[in-house]
Amino acid sequence: MTHLDADAFFAAVEQAADPRLRGKPVAVGGERRGIIASASYEARRFGVYTPMPSVRARQLCPHLILLPGDFDKYEQFSRWMFSYAYDFTPNVEITSIDEGYCDLRGVRRPVIEVARTIRDAIRQALKITVSEGIGANKLVSQIASKLEKPAAFKFVPSGEEIAFLHPLPNRWLPGIGPKTAARLNAAGLALIRHIAETPVEWLSLVLGRAAPQIHRFAHGLDDRPVVPASEPAKSYSQQETFPQDQTDEPFLEATLRRMADHLFAQVRADGRSVRTLTVKVRYNDRTEDQVSESLVEPTDLETDVYGRLGLMLRRAWRRRVSLRLVALKLSNLYDGRFGAELPLDRSAQQREARRRLADVVDRLRAERGRDVVMRGHDLLLRQGAPDPTPRGLGP
Ligand SMILES: [Mg+2]
Repeated sequence: MTHLDADAFFAAVEQAADPRLRGKPVAVGGERRGIIASASYEARRFGVYTPMPSVRARQLCPHLILLPGDFDKYEQFSRWMFSYAYDFTPNVEITSIDEGYCDLRGVRRPVIEVARTIRDAIRQALKITVSEGIGANKLVSQIASKLEKPAAFKFVPSGEEIAFLHPLPNRWLPGIGPKTAARLNAAGLALIRHIAETPVEWLSLVLGRAAPQIHRFAHGLDDRPVVPASEPAKSYSQQETFPQDQTDEPFLEATLRRMADHLFAQVRADGRSVRTLTVKVRYNDRTEDQVSESLVEPTDLETDVYGRLGLMLRRAWRRRVSLRLVALKLSNLYDGRFGAELPLDRSAQQREARRRLADVVDRLRAERGRDVVMRGHDLLLRQGAPDPTPRGLGP
């Protein structure tokens, strides 16, 4: 298994696209929301990191070149980057814009040689560097790629997984965020070795239901397969087929908003953000139309897209024919939350308030069911689908 992870991706793409930026401290993001989304290694030398307020970054690095994000460009580079992996195998799982796994076992050349070829090709053709980790499974290869960035190339031979993992701090294991790491540290389980040595029943006291999985990880065991996607990336989608064909626009728009609620809750639970929305309609004669739109920046909040859904529905609904189905898809996945973690201006503060509200709603719904919180469109949908009987034909 090989894990591939681009280094300082957004900033590196900007430097690749414009030779004048190479060797200079460059950061992406910031202008709109005041936060650094990606910093070149030249900038990191000044102490610039993500997420950091742009104001602070400028203080640390007065010559910092701060660029607004160009996500179309990053997605194009991402497709090019993964195309070099696809040259060798279809078994590629793209987990975010700049990270993915490939299973190179079916390739007739030695895995290390192929991994090196992919990395060299990306560097030469795209002028960006990637770090690669090679190991027995997803867990080991992913940690190996991230341990010594940038431009890392780390091979963990089979049989050496334990020796590789055990000296590392617990936070390297998937599923252990900062809060869990702090609890584990307080329990005296600071290293992966400590977790491996602790019986699962005890571990459950700190980790709950995640304990068995994390215990297996601590022993270097991971049987998660590479899941090659027919599409370039994973997406979140939902559709609804109506018992009777529909023509009522407010009802259809409310249906899409409810789908957005549901899908964005999943996006948040996965710690992701998305940039592209697709609305699809199916007419009563089974033909379909769809439209896609990309946001300026990725988001994990449904409230950022509510306003677009009605417009997209009207654009997708080209024919004056009643609808049998509507669907919403969220794609172009990014890791992590974008935008203000440190609220600086009014819009960032409002955004932060909406994010906190979204978290509260997610928790309430997980505990007490979806209907515990009703938004405007939920109330509209509660009235049920409008009667589709054409006017004048009623009793
Ligand atoms: Mg990366």
